[in-house]
Amino acid sequence: MLEKQEKKIIKLKNLEIGSGKAAFIAGPCSIESEKHIIEEALSLKEIGLDILRGGAFKPRTSPYDFQGLGLEGVKYLRKAADEADVPMITEVLSEFDIDDMYKYVDIFQVGSRNMYNYSLLKKLGEQDKPVMLKRGFSASLDEWMNAAEYIIKGGNENVIFCERGIRTFNDYTRNTLDLAGAVLVKKLTSRPVFFDPSHGTGRRDLIEPMTAAGLAAGLDGVIIEVHKDPDTALSDAKQTIDYESYKQIVEKYKE
Ligand code: PEP
Ligand code: MN
Repeated sequence: MLEKQEKKIIKLKNLEIGSGKAAFIAGPCSIESEKHIIEEALSLKEIGLDILRGGAFKPRTSPYDFQGLGLEGVKYLRKAADEADVPMITEVLSEFDIDDMYKYVDIFQVGSRNMYNYSLLKKLGEQDKPVMLKRGFSASLDEWMNAAEYIIKGGNENVIFCERGIRTFNDYTRNTLDLAGAVLVKKLTSRPVFFDPSHGTGRRDLIEPMTAAGLAAGLDGVIIEVHKDPDTALSDAKQTIDYESYKQIVEKYKE
């Protein structure tokens, strides 16, 4: 598995993920209502958007925090993506939700907390839709690449890696965005590798510089949490940027 393989490009609507032009995924951490996600989708499309994100099944640290809208949220995200005419991505928390979600979803996201959930990975291996596999926050590169193998072995070649930060002794950021690890995984697997400066830092003020760094390092795409009014976002407010900040990033860095 660690031998260098042929470059893998994932085709999705008019996107060619991994072909050299970085893809921009943006949207709120959580889908908050139908109206909210449709407004986000249309505004972000106007600014510059390749893929719309939004969480419906939310893996929150506290069970008392907003847990997401579940399948209803996935349906809202589908509607919003269709209105903006872009593909969408959302996290799947359990293998038991895949069948219900399947017809709405374009890309299944496996979250950091689920990277080691081998029954989820095996079931995603049986699907014919792309899977974005986030790195576990304490996963070695070897564990991350092996987690991808669970999906690939089942027959689903459409795996996109996403570096989202790992836990270190760094106390000023939520995580440490391991861009070197991300570049290495791209070299070792020849598969598309994205990065997530939002979860990777936990700080609004670091989204732009880290986006610049990841794109300069040749990664295949970035996923950024954006909200109309970030301070009121129902999850991850501190790392969420507003439309104006996202616009500046797009104008500077999006091809
Ligand atoms: C997310 O993208 O909203 C998310 C929960 O990410 P992670 O799994 O990287 O924490
Ligand atoms: Mn989030």
